[in-house]
Amino acid sequence: MNKRRDLFDQLHLWHPYSSITYPIPTYTVKKAYGCTIELESGKLLIDGMSSWWCAIHGYNHPDLNQAVTEQLKKMSHVMFGGLTHEAAINLGKLLLKITPPSLDIIFYADSGSVAVEVALKIAIQYWRGKQNLTKNNFATIRSGYHGDTWNAMSVCDPKTGMHSIFDGYLPQRYFLPQPKSKFNNAWDPEDIKPVQSFFEEYHHYLAGFIIEPIVQGAGGMYFYHTQYLKELKKLCNEYQILLIFDEIATGFARTGRLFAWEHAKVEPDIMCIGKGLTGGYMTLAATLTKREIAENVCNSEAGALMHGPTFMANPLACHVAHTSTQLLLSQNWQDNIRRIEKILKRELITALDLPYVKEVRILGAIGVIELEYPVNLASLQEKIINADIWIRPFNHLVYIMPPYIINDEELVFLAKNMLNVIKKITPKDLII
Ligand SMILES: *Cc1c(COP(=O)(O)O)cnc(C)c1O
Repeated sequence: MNKRRDLFDQLHLWHPYSSITYPIPTYTVKKAYGCTIELESGKLLIDGMSSWWCAIHGYNHPDLNQAVTEQLKKMSHVMFGGLTHEAAINLGKLLLKITPPSLDIIFYADSGSVAVEVALKIAIQYWRGKQNLTKNNFATIRSGYHGDTWNAMSVCDPKTGMHSIFDGYLPQRYFLPQPKSKFNNAWDPEDIKPVQSFFEEYHHYLAGFIIEPIVQGAGGMYFYHTQYLKELKKLCNEYQILLIFDEIATGFARTGRLFAWEHAKVEPDIMCIGKGLTGGYMTLAATLTKREIAENVCNSEAGALMHGPTFMANPLACHVAHTSTQLLLSQNWQDNIRRIEKILKRELITALDLPYVKEVRILGAIGVIELEYPVNLASLQEKIINADIWIRPFNHLVYIMPPYIINDEELVFLAKNMLNVIKKITPKDLII
């Protein structure tokens, strides 16, 4: 059978959001290449996850492999305190070309969650630098996800953001309603009113507003209207609240633009990137901001931004990130994402006729099927493996965001088999 559960793994290794007492089966991967994940059993799966949005060029890419080996010959790591290197500098130059023009200062972080922590710290230190000690809290919207570390958790949706258990221990943030106006639908001006009235009353206490632009990821896979960001930006300016965009999931062309802010043409004050940055090769993220903000941060009593991870600007990660981003930019990625979007629309729209399906949403290289009930992951995961595809549903959502190198045939296979799995859903596969 496929369920080659490794006993050591089962007994000793904790997996993401998983129980040690009743672990959900894990499948041992032998290797991965292109869009294929090969299991120890010899079974081949077409990848629909890009390993949580990261592996945009698929697995085992020759250019990225070469980048790692090249860098390895120079050094795998040196500390970033007091030292610098070409890998960090070259990546920085490239990032400034593709991120909002007003952002020109980069802090390399070692994961998305840390990039979010750094963004929040920048906002706090910025206001301290301006001698404003009351602007020290944050607002966001419902159904967001910003990571798993303590302060990142505090701005995740308290219910859908996976951290409800910590409610009461986390710093208390302000949660505003999720905009009801969907991407590409009509704009309802009512959507921004709660922000307006909230800012009016609370702006003295707000250092920043953090939000995933256009696409909310792990908090609900929801796509909202560009006008919301435009109105939000106006209000943030008016009430002097730093606008923080978390582009960790949306970055590197996933939504059809290089970064999602471009849909609304709204530039943030602080921006976090990660996930697709290294093409899924290793962990790296970054927080970008404006010089004026960075200088105020350094005006605070500390005289510096108080953060500096051991593996900051890891050269291997920086060099592979540079190569991966160059690779993306060297292609006609716009047409490629449109191709994926077109196929996803054609193939997934028929899911609306299936039982338990509530909504189908597609944007760029993201295809989402929302069910009426949350899934029972253990039983559904096995059906997915049996369909020769790799998808990892959560809550009510069965979704795909494949590597961009996926060809038409593989993508149709992935989408059709995803529908077949949903077609065969029984009440046992759901939490009803
Ligand atoms: C994944 C994600 C994070 C956290 O990144 P990690 O690298 O897992 O710490 C933060 N924000 C968003 C929007 C994400 O999708």
